[in-house]
Amino acid sequence: MVLTLREKRSVHDRPTFAKAMARRKKKTVRKVRVAHELPKRRRMAIDEAMKAHRTEDRPEWDRTSDWGDVRFYRKRIKPGTLRTIHLPLLNVSLGDAWPVPVTIIHGARPGPCITIIGGIHGDELTGPSACTHLLSNAFTDEGKPLDPKSLAGTLRIVPVVNLPGYRMKSRYFPDGRDLNRQFPGDPGGSTTRRVAHQIWTHLVEDSDAIIDIHSAAKGRTNMPQVRCDLTHTSSYLLAKSFGIEIILDSIPSKGTLRRTGNTADIPVVTYEGGAADTLGDQSVKVAVHGVMNALRSMRMVPGNPQRPKFRIMASGSTWLRAAEGGLLDMFVQAGSVMREGEVVATISDPATPGMTVDIVAPEDGLIIGAATNPFTAAGMPVGHFLPISKHFALLEEQIDEHGQFIVNGSQEERVWREEHEINEISLDGEWSGGEVDSEWIGSKPTGDEKEFEEEAA
Ligand SMILES: [Zn+2]
Repeated sequence: MVLTLREKRSVHDRPTFAKAMARRKKKTVRKVRVAHELPKRRRMAIDEAMKAHRTEDRPEWDRTSDWGDVRFYRKRIKPGTLRTIHLPLLNVSLGDAWPVPVTIIHGARPGPCITIIGGIHGDELTGPSACTHLLSNAFTDEGKPLDPKSLAGTLRIVPVVNLPGYRMKSRYFPDGRDLNRQFPGDPGGSTTRRVAHQIWTHLVEDSDAIIDIHSAAKGRTNMPQVRCDLTHTSSYLLAKSFGIEIILDSIPSKGTLRRTGNTADIPVVTYEGGAADTLGDQSVKVAVHGVMNALRSMRMVPGNPQRPKFRIMASGSTWLRAAEGGLLDMFVQAGSVMREGEVVATISDPATPGMTVDIVAPEDGLIIGAATNPFTAAGMPVGHFLPISKHFALLEEQIDEHGQFIVNGSQEERVWREEHEINEISLDGEWSGGEVDSEWIGSKPTGDEKEFEEEAA
């Protein structure tokens, strides 16, 4: 039997990747410590979802199953080969169809179909860079981790899905819309909606899991973190498999790839790291590391995933806002571990020399996002703060000489840790101001997009 991507499309055979995860679980004894600090209702919803979650049998992923060519956009890829195919974002006979390169590593052995997406926002370069590393010879050559001859399943890597935006160095599509608010799209809708539909049809619908790589929007930077709706169990498992310390439990905005994917019961997580228009070594390294961890967890590539020492599952964060306007002088960065009362930033005003105002950490915690634009008005967010009072000692054990939290995967050292050695922590609270990133509004909302501009990440 030839198993094509088309044939795997049914939503009903979905839930997942969980089988591969279940295989792992059998090997290790799970003894994960959870501090019950999530709001009770949320905690119960997550527990209920986990209980209801069934590990579905996917016999077609068994090593002995028939495994043949895979199709992508009318092209055929043989098992054990890698091929780059251009997917036109628009179905047109005239004008630019915006062909986007999609590399398909079709493994020699059966397994799930995983899609890694970078550059939904054209000015966010963490995804494009991480995907490019994953496609380099260091990963895909014979004997390397993504050698198609040893890979199980199908890996599709799209370094820059919003190629028109990338070429304009813009977050948006040429029609001014945010692609990540237009899913599942519409073949007869606006330009960006048509593109979203094309991406949905060819890259999303038939994926067994999706990792969507982002960075912060212009004017700020994020420390590496994963965002996921923890009540969507297969996404929760995917988030854990990434092997990162900070997981934000957040319900994404309408029209995002993550929300729409979850609605179709596809596990989707968003990785956030670094800033727009820049390339941070740490955020790229953690992204590559996380993707490889997820693939190892799903048994697509051999080896054991590298686990963090602990996980912080957070359902609330705080915005540190400027009380005055002027020029912002940041004392800390995204990833800085703060003690209550420590100075985060100082604001001074060229019109009033000699006077400064400090912004201090309201309690012990972590700066997970920081402003990079010094122009500040009263009320503008300076930092995105995760209060971590009770489990502060865990953070302190993992900081460098500058007080920066050392994220798993950002160092060369690769220590494999068993699942049962991880302390899992939940944080209580509400996202201030709606969505996780609601304060950081994109620079160019147009017309009907305004209402969808909430989570500018
Ligand atoms: Zn983004």
